[in-house]
Amino acid sequence: MKDEAVIRTEGLTKRFGTFVAVKGISFSVRRGEIFGFLGANGAGKTTAMRMLCGLSRPSAGRAWVAGCDVARNPEEVKRRIGYMSQRFSLYEDLTVRENLKLYGGIYGMRREAIREKTERVLKELQLERDADKLVASLPLGWKQKLAFSVAIFHEPQIVFLDEPTGGVDPLTRRRFWEMIYAAAERGITVFVTTHYMDEAEYCDRVSIMVDGEIRALDTPRRLREAFGAEGMDEVFQRLVRTERTDRGAGAAADATDE
Ligand code: ATP
Repeated sequence: MKDEAVIRTEGLTKRFGTFVAVKGISFSVRRGEIFGFLGANGAGKTTAMRMLCGLSRPSAGRAWVAGCDVARNPEEVKRRIGYMSQRFSLYEDLTVRENLKLYGGIYGMRREAIREKTERVLKELQLERDADKLVASLPLGWKQKLAFSVAIFHEPQIVFLDEPTGGVDPLTRRRFWEMIYAAAERGITVFVTTHYMDEAEYCDRVSIMVDGEIRALDTPRRLREAFGAEGMDEVFQRLVRTERTDRGAGAAADATDE
């Protein structure tokens, strides 16, 4: 059932007062896909992702995530997904092992399952010797890997990652992506935002958001071909530049009308 949509939105919209941060976006993501959600700062990515995670109520439109309507059943959505926020959600003053145990409990896992999974994760991350160290003492790259392991600790259907690789060197980012691939191979759908255009190439499909709207959505290869671009960075620059030119033209037209 590879083609089954696990995320689907129709006209999803978020308003903050009179400001519209997400302007009626419609798209779907298939099971097991690695979907890159790109856009410049302030484009509306986090706002859209928070609605998909059941953390923020849509102002209009609808979204279904892992079989649930996000507005009608946000609590069930939260149980079926994993979420890694930009600031992570680890407790710095707890040890690595304590964080895993705590999240296993929050996700409602049984004690035996938590114990088994903790050992497996510590081994996978090669953190066995550091299991009883405070998270605060770990380097940033390790915290990111641990935060990701925590987000998928309960084997959710989908994991949402909000700029998971910010601030780390390219080698650490590459290793982090190996973890993402491994999760996708186990059938976990990955929905990821990133600022790094080289990372867009690692995704099965990407959408590019500009000013609250999805302006392009396809595989990285097809987008490069469509824009006659060498890399995703160039695709992105062209879209943003078009947006600025349009806005400039709009502003000029407005001025003429006055
Ligand atoms: P970044 O990459 O910087 O996180 P983003 O694409 O995720 O950017 P959002 O954080 O979704 O963008 O913000 C989209 C727009 O909505 C921004 O202009 C932001 O200032 C605005 N915004 C976000 N949250 C609120 C809020 N609670 N109240 C008012 N405006 C908000």
